[in-house]
Amino acid sequence: MTLQDKTDLGGMTLSEMEAYIVSIGQSKFRAKQINDWIRRGCDFAEMTNLPRALRDTLETTCYTGLPRIAEKYVSAIDGTVKYLFEFPDGQCVESVVMFYHHGTTICISSQVGCRMGCKFCASTIGGKVRDLSASEMLGQIEVAARDIGERIDGVVMMGIGEPLDNYENTVRFLHLVTSPDGGGIGARHISLSTSGLADKIRALEKEDLQITLSISLHAPNDETRSAIMPVNKKFGIDELLSAAKHYFDVTGRRVSMEYTLISGKNDTVRDALALAATLRRYFARGDALHINLIPVNPVRETGFAAGSRESVRAFADTLEQNGFTATVRRTLGPDINASCGQLRRANLQNKERTPV
Ligand code: SAH
Repeated sequence: MTLQDKTDLGGMTLSEMEAYIVSIGQSKFRAKQINDWIRRGCDFAEMTNLPRALRDTLETTCYTGLPRIAEKYVSAIDGTVKYLFEFPDGQCVESVVMFYHHGTTICISSQVGCRMGCKFCASTIGGKVRDLSASEMLGQIEVAARDIGERIDGVVMMGIGEPLDNYENTVRFLHLVTSPDGGGIGARHISLSTSGLADKIRALEKEDLQITLSISLHAPNDETRSAIMPVNKKFGIDELLSAAKHYFDVTGRRVSMEYTLISGKNDTVRDALALAATLRRYFARGDALHINLIPVNPVRETGFAAGSRESVRAFADTLEQNGFTATVRRTLGPDINASCGQLRRANLQNKERTPV
C-alpha cells in the first residue's frame, strides 16, 4: 500500500477517528487511545495498549503524519532548536523551536519547497515539491514537543511553504491544532504568515479562527514589491492591504506586517515614509497593525544583504514618528542557521553529492 492509499488518522478529529475505527470493526474507545498516542508524538509501533494485531493493521493501512528527526541543532547562544524533519516518502522540511519568557513557540513548514518565487528566500529555490497534509503540519509540533519534553504554547506558520497556497490542509490543520483533542493550542497563540494571496485571506476570515494574520509586505509600493515578490503581479498592494484590513474588521485581530529590510532595495528612510503613507491609506488606526522589521538573512544564492544597524534603526524610528509601532526582530539561533529553507537546501545538496 502506498502512502497516498493510507488512511490519514493524524489529520482526523477525534470524532472522525472514532467513526473510522468503528468502520473497521473495532471498539470506539480505541480511537481515543490512538489519538492520545499520536498527539504525544508516538507512532503505531509504540501504541502498547493496543492489541498487536490492531497495531500491525494500522501500521500497514494508516498514516500518522509524524516525521522522523533527520537532523537536529541546538543553539549554544539561546537554546533555539532547529529540526530537519523527514516524512516517510523521504521529503524533508524544517521546524524551529524558540524559547521566549512568555512561552515556547514553534515555527512550522506548510509545504515541501514553495512556488511563490520571492527573490530573497531560500525556500523557493527549486520550487514546490508537494503540499503537506494537516497531519504532517501537526506532526512537526507533536514530534518537537515530545523531543524537547515540554508543552509548546504557540505556533507560527513561517517555515517552508506558503500556507495559503495549501489552503484546505492549512485550514484543517488550524482547526485541529486549536481543538482540545488535537494540539490544544489557543488560536490567539497562532500566527499564519502569507506572501499575499488576497483571495485566500478573504476566505480565511470566514473560518471563524482567532489566529493572527501576518502579511509579508516587504515593500512600500507595487514597483518595488513586484521586483522582489512575483505574487504581487497577481495581487497588488491595494488588493492585499484591502483584504488585510477587511480581515481586521471582521475578526478584530490586529494584523502583523512583516518587512524584510534589504540593503539598497527597500530600506531607506524614504521607503519608510512611503510605507507609512501606504499603510495609512488602509489602516487609519495605528493600533490595527504591528510592523515587524527583519534585517534580511543573507542566502548564498540570492546575493541580498542587510543594511547597517543605523539604517535599520532609522527605518524603525521613521515608522514610529509616523504613528506605527515597529519592532526590529531579534535574531534567534544565529549559530545554527535557524532561518528557514537553508537546512533543507544544504541537505538536498549533500544528497546530490552523495554517490549512490
Ligand atoms: N510563505 C509565507 C510564510 C513563509 S516565509 C510568507 O511568505 O509569509 C516566512 C517569512 O520569512 C516571510 O515574511 C518571508 O518573507 C521571510 N523571509 C524569507 N526569506 C527571508 C530572508 N532571507 N531573510 C529574512 N526574511 C525572510
